[in-house]
Amino acid sequence: MSGLMQDWSLTCTRILDHAARNHPDREIVSRSVEGPIHRTTYKTLRTRSLQLAKRLQKAGIREGDRVATLAWNTWRHMEAWYGLMGIGAVYHTVNPRLFPDQIIWIINHAEDRFLLVDLTFLPLVEKVLPHLTTIEQVIVLTDEEHLPATGFDAVPYEEWLAETDADFAWAELDENAAAGMCYTSGTTGNPKGVVYSHRSNVLHALTAATPDMLGLSSRDRVMPVVPLFHANGWSLAFSAPMAGAALVMPGRRMDGEALWELLDAEKVSLTAAVPTIWLMLLQHLEASGRKLPYLERVVIGGSACPRAITKAFEEIYDVRVRHAWGMTEMSPLGSVCATRPEVADLQDEALLDLQEKQGFAPFGVEMKITDDEGKERPWDGKTFGRLKVRGPAVARTYFKEEDTPILDEDGFFDTGDVAHIDPYGYMQITDRAKDVIKSGGEWISTIDLENLALLHPDVAEAAVIGVPHPKWDERPLLVVVAKEGRTPTEEAILQVLEGRIASWWMPNAVVFVDEIPHTATGKIKKTALREQFADFRFS
Ligand code: ADP
Repeated sequence: MSGLMQDWSLTCTRILDHAARNHPDREIVSRSVEGPIHRTTYKTLRTRSLQLAKRLQKAGIREGDRVATLAWNTWRHMEAWYGLMGIGAVYHTVNPRLFPDQIIWIINHAEDRFLLVDLTFLPLVEKVLPHLTTIEQVIVLTDEEHLPATGFDAVPYEEWLAETDADFAWAELDENAAAGMCYTSGTTGNPKGVVYSHRSNVLHALTAATPDMLGLSSRDRVMPVVPLFHANGWSLAFSAPMAGAALVMPGRRMDGEALWELLDAEKVSLTAAVPTIWLMLLQHLEASGRKLPYLERVVIGGSACPRAITKAFEEIYDVRVRHAWGMTEMSPLGSVCATRPEVADLQDEALLDLQEKQGFAPFGVEMKITDDEGKERPWDGKTFGRLKVRGPAVARTYFKEEDTPILDEDGFFDTGDVAHIDPYGYMQITDRAKDVIKSGGEWISTIDLENLALLHPDVAEAAVIGVPHPKWDERPLLVVVAKEGRTPTEEAILQVLEGRIASWWMPNAVVFVDEIPHTATGKIKKTALREQFADFRFS
């Protein structure tokens, strides 16, 4: 017997239809790439996205075609997403911070037909364009007045868009059709193309908006500092309009001062980004004495959130921290650390201990931890295992690699992370499987050691890598960047760790460096650090 309900396909453009109809005047405020603050509404954004859909169709873009964007978070980038999806084409966000060779590889692999690009990236496009084999047209997200002379054929978006009207209807699409694409950084081998469907984006946005996840409502003013090109923009281009929340888009300026200006002037209630961004903001606040009177929640993920960041937001600025974990392959949210009744009484240091965890899974994400043979490990809060997930917004395969299975026999995807899960379901990442240190057959968590090292007041950044050891196979080396003008000693830093870890976890040495290498998404690049210290030997 079939259910007798309507067949209403879960396509992403329905999200914008909903926002435009039910929250027509809700604002989307952007710091434009040209400079001034720009204001629009969901109603206008929908009209312009329809117009773009029509224009793209006129230009010959068809269902299933990929179009690359090299762009910051602005209203135009959002229009690009919805306009493309509206004709069944696929938005492909490319991370401009990747090396030009990686960008060339990714765009050629995706066979993108058009490139929508912000002014900032014209020099980059100039460099890569001769090597892009499938790009037919470059459209610059600005108007004619702001478009400088370029060494290639560049079309100004506004005038190009104005060549059609908005009298258009979204394509009727299968909810399983491709909507968007994002390549993972691929620390080993080539980048992998993750392809989101309309259905996965809609289901994921529903989940992301729930109270224990991002907890979005129409009263929120949401600032996604995390770029749309990082892991599907953490779903905020979908979950915010779905909830009817206003959006504040920071454009290209992500320094502490620029972010504070928007947080304050636009009364942002929720914002989201990786820890390095928040370090910059907190340094700015400390130096300027400014406060965050409007901000209620900050979502921090992409890499483990240092305790010092959580403590500063919670205790100095009275902002609730939501530590989140996810991956490009998961659309990307996998878990969020919100307070459940079982832990509602925790305070001070005990609460900070909890917030170091990446939290629990929402509906739609099933988790398990296993040993190397795939046997499940217990949820006791201490036994580590390989973290595996399944759900309707988790990748089942990669673009053009459909013949290579990436799921186990039960349909779980191996995240490459190592974690433990407590009896309430709070998960904590202890490492990437490739970074965990195996000392005498036992595992040492590099993330735990890094977090603890940051408790020393003179430490700006810390990274731990395994270095070969004749007796124990590998032992931890702690690499530290000191705060400007400070000179902490090795002994003083190790003293902070003492008593907080098992004695056999203690790093065998501390080295000081001026800078720790980062990936294009702001994570510590452990592969590069391991190369840098390949010849290091403990004395
Ligand atoms: P990219 O490297 O391009 O950012 P992803 O966003 O897909 O790619 O990276 C996902 C990985 O980032 C996860 O598998 C995990 O190792 C790490 N990660 C994400 N969030 C957290 C977090 N809150 N704590 C620790 N690690 C995290």
